[in-house]
Amino acid sequence: MVLADLGRRINSAVSEVTRSSVVDSNVVDNMLKEISNALVEADVNIRLVISMRKKLKTKIESEDKPGINKKKIIQKAVFDELCELVDCGGAQVFKPKRKQANVLMMVGLQGAGKTTTCTKLAVYYQRRGYKVGLVCADTFRAGAFDQLKQNATKARIPYYGSYTEVDPVTVAADGVDKFKKEKFEIIIVDTSGRHRQEKDLFEEMVQIEDAIKPDETIMVLDASIGQAAESQARAFKESSNFGAIILTKMDGHAKGGGAISAVAATNTPIAFIGTGEHIQDLESFTAKQFVSKLLG
Ligand code: GDP
Repeated sequence: MVLADLGRRINSAVSEVTRSSVVDSNVVDNMLKEISNALVEADVNIRLVISMRKKLKTKIESEDKPGINKKKIIQKAVFDELCELVDCGGAQVFKPKRKQANVLMMVGLQGAGKTTTCTKLAVYYQRRGYKVGLVCADTFRAGAFDQLKQNATKARIPYYGSYTEVDPVTVAADGVDKFKKEKFEIIIVDTSGRHRQEKDLFEEMVQIEDAIKPDETIMVLDASIGQAAESQARAFKESSNFGAIILTKMDGHAKGGGAISAVAATNTPIAFIGTGEHIQDLESFTAKQFVSKLLG
């Protein structure tokens, strides 16, 4: 089920309660059941859903006092719990510091949208007055450097890469060095992906991380892959202690539920969401905004 439908189903479950003349535990239970079913069908991990349902029920019951508008309480409780589900306990997303080098390393599987997201992120920070450079450390995929170069040129972002050096660790280290010397404030390093999660990729990630010591590693995760997002994020987290996630392809018919579970499974906050193929299609993520939009 896509996110737009999830929002609609949650809304209609809540409306059902607000339309009832008597809001007893039966009505509340029906609503909780319908919200839970919708979340599970949207690929949110079942354990996460059960735990949310319990918390929501407790919250609604504990605030049920005479003279209080129960329908309002329920609406707010649903909103708050959904925020908590995507908020990762309010964990803070990395904030780059001005007038010093902030190295951001991007990891993720091939096709997730890593290279595109690197340029989007570069543009995002450049517009906010940072001096930004892009490094292409993907020596695995033929054409990766050309893609980054093309995107960077279009967005007028300085870039670094090599057609001859085959060692991604060397390219990453050289690129970061060069931009540091030139007093760049944000250095975004695009690393290679593979079609699958595999040992070689994870080893390469660890080596690059050792060489460039990123201030933040960011996992780029395709939101359209449904439940697979959770296991993918877990596998990456074992080798790369990424501190933030960027969810791509949240436009159109995104099945974002799996990605929401990935956030909880790795205890890592979402920093941005990608909402299209264009350079400006990147939005900084806040739980409240996301849930408000979800519920229309
Ligand atoms: P990489 O292999 O991870 O570097 O992935 P790419 O950056 O080459 O992106 C793979 C495909 O996904 C390209 O066709 C991108 O245009 C597309 N893409 C990336 N981000 C988004 C997004 O947020 N929304 C949509 N619709 N497409 C995206």
